[in-house]
Amino acid sequence: MTPFLYQCTTCGKLFRRDEVRYLCPDCAKDYRPRIPLVGVLLAQFDYAAIRKRFKKLHPDWSLFSAVEDKHYPPYPHGHTPFFPAAALGHALGFENVWLKNDGLNPSASLKDRASFLVVAEANRLKEPSIVTASTGNAASALAAVCAAAGKQAIIFVPESAPRAKLVQMVLYGARVIPVRGSYDDAFRLSLEYTTRKGGLNRNTAYHPLTIEGKKTVGLEICEQNRFQAPDVILVPVGDGVIIGGVFKAFYDMKAAGLITKLPRLVCVQAERSAAIYHYIRSGKYQDARRPKTIADSISVSIPSNAHLARKAVLESRGFSLTVTDQEILRGQRLLAEKAGVFAEPAAAATVAALKKLRGSERLGRKEQIVLLITGHGLKDVEAAMKTICIPASIEPTLEAL
Ligand SMILES: [Zn+2]
Repeated sequence: MTPFLYQCTTCGKLFRRDEVRYLCPDCAKDYRPRIPLVGVLLAQFDYAAIRKRFKKLHPDWSLFSAVEDKHYPPYPHGHTPFFPAAALGHALGFENVWLKNDGLNPSASLKDRASFLVVAEANRLKEPSIVTASTGNAASALAAVCAAAGKQAIIFVPESAPRAKLVQMVLYGARVIPVRGSYDDAFRLSLEYTTRKGGLNRNTAYHPLTIEGKKTVGLEICEQNRFQAPDVILVPVGDGVIIGGVFKAFYDMKAAGLITKLPRLVCVQAERSAAIYHYIRSGKYQDARRPKTIADSISVSIPSNAHLARKAVLESRGFSLTVTDQEILRGQRLLAEKAGVFAEPAAAATVAALKKLRGSERLGRKEQIVLLITGHGLKDVEAAMKTICIPASIEPTLEAL
């Protein structure tokens, strides 16, 4: 770990590590449920110290961590494959497409990274229970890490979450409370719960270490890419924390002198859950009214990290686009057929987006383009069933064949 201060992304004020826990106390006074979070905190490290100690030949990534490694739970995760997908790229009209397959984390999504760091923080604070609201993946990740760490996970989840995700949470031993309502309702209820009953709240962006945890995917991409930032990274976006985390990774590495440019970040949203897309385009924030998409992981009405997500896209000189459910399902199938990767619909949205960008001037054919695959397809088999047909069975004879 390197010493750090938390900086408020709204007012810029700096805080010592244990002076604050969630949002900036000044700006959070203006926060009320049903708006994107204000006063989200970002860890600002002593980058000069990292620059002195970090060696590319023997990288010590704990220098970029906001929790001492002695508090880490016994839950190996990350180090997921990063590899070129030539056939997929060819099918989409691009020459240098790469995949970062974070669906291969132990609970099968990128969210393991954030849950891991928040549970490490709970160890440091000697906090026995951790509370979260989630569309499903963050909760199954938290349940898994808590199981490994001997902690209690308390989870508020929309009752519509895919069954496989609910099964995961319950199997890992979490206390699961399905909520008759949306992710946004679960988010609000979990905040009320921690205010009244205690426990460490892991809500995404609300706890600043969720951004720090998710940033490790960007650090890994950079290392696996021989310390070169890719030209472009396509990120599926729901509440905006993953894209905020990816941005933070490259921001930190640039500040520490490890890279000279930021990758352009492309924010991919589902057409009917696109609050951040519209915010980036118009500069004016509005909730997504009645979000509805097959990509449950990115179905959000009020994205908690909307402001930072917009900043990540604008400062990296990226852009945003939306895809329909049909495009997502076709992308899912193409990814499976051309790269052997079965991704959940949210992750497949990146493939759908790249397909839409064929021939556009916004991406060069030869640029290095990374698709961030955030979750495994087995988490939502019912979605994939919509595009395939399982053949009828036959008698076990060659004649029948
Ligand atoms: Zn503030």
